[in-house]
Amino acid sequence: MTLDLEVHPHKRFNPLTGEWVLVSPHRTQRPWQGKQEQTESASRPSYDPGCYLCPGNQRHGGQQNPVYADTFVFTNDFSALLPDTPALVENPDDLFRVASEKGICKVICFSPRHDLSVPNMTQEAVELVVDVWKNEYEQFLLNPEISYVQIFENKGAIMGCSNPHPHCQVWASSGIPSIVALEQENQRKYREKHGVPMLVDYLARELEQQDRLIYRNEEFVVLVPFWAVWPFETVILPRQHCPSMDSFTIGQVRGFADAYRKLTQAYDRVFECEFPYTAGIHQAPATNAIHDDWQLHMHFYPPLLRSATVRKFMVGYEMLASAQRDITAEKAAGVLRQAMSRL
Ligand SMILES: [Zn+2]
Ligand SMILES: [Zn+2]
Repeated sequence: MTLDLEVHPHKRFNPLTGEWVLVSPHRTQRPWQGKQEQTESASRPSYDPGCYLCPGNQRHGGQQNPVYADTFVFTNDFSALLPDTPALVENPDDLFRVASEKGICKVICFSPRHDLSVPNMTQEAVELVVDVWKNEYEQFLLNPEISYVQIFENKGAIMGCSNPHPHCQVWASSGIPSIVALEQENQRKYREKHGVPMLVDYLARELEQQDRLIYRNEEFVVLVPFWAVWPFETVILPRQHCPSMDSFTIGQVRGFADAYRKLTQAYDRVFECEFPYTAGIHQAPATNAIHDDWQLHMHFYPPLLRSATVRKFMVGYEMLASAQRDITAEKAAGVLRQAMSRL
């Protein structure tokens, strides 16, 4: 008997993090039924006087937002990282190790409209968001105190996002965060062994196999990674080798915005709800060193499993032993392709 990835329990390896995920497809042999239920209406006012991100409103820190017309960037009034943290010589203690970390945390409002989100913004408006990301990365590249720029979006109350106003965060830090450092090290080793950046090779193989592809335009491809953990986890990958956003051409800005928009539109169709997720861009450190091992990518980690209200929890075996999923990456890609075809 040979191992059938659609039938038998097996493990898949994530080459970016070096971790395994346990896949148990036999637990979902029943045919896919995209259960759709009526959730609370997503109708929001285009302006909310109580929202600290809406134009002209006062924030909790006392600052007043300008009456902005497209995007708006400000330093988080309650930043997790601060630029003036005192330096500390890292202590050599193996058990009580401490290091200092400096940084800057910003918030980027995607639109003055409180009721919009990426899937229902215009292509031009999402391009402006990508332009702001590129610009932020470029600015931090000039700051010798900063080594890494993490751009991320939390969407939906289920993901702990306290405000539905479309926005994301940028946390720029003096050090390289652990997940990024891990992906960097694995990309370095892969390129050393194979001579090609890992995700460039990976995308070529995915384009051959086609099983996990969801969408592509001239510059980017959206797919469910082979080693996905979250039920509808996806990644946006550039077709060209591109370590970081500072080298984005106008075509890449356009293509990235298009992929981001189409993917989130498809997500919203899967369970006919505003699909929650945490998404973020991994890219080369914002330093002047050469980072050719890196291939920029954007991860999407949505928690929903079977309907607008049934989510996956990372508990039990997953907290103690290993990540696990039932629906295979190929099946999830099929569901997302289906949703994409209904756009
Ligand atoms: Zn608002
Ligand atoms: Zn990554």
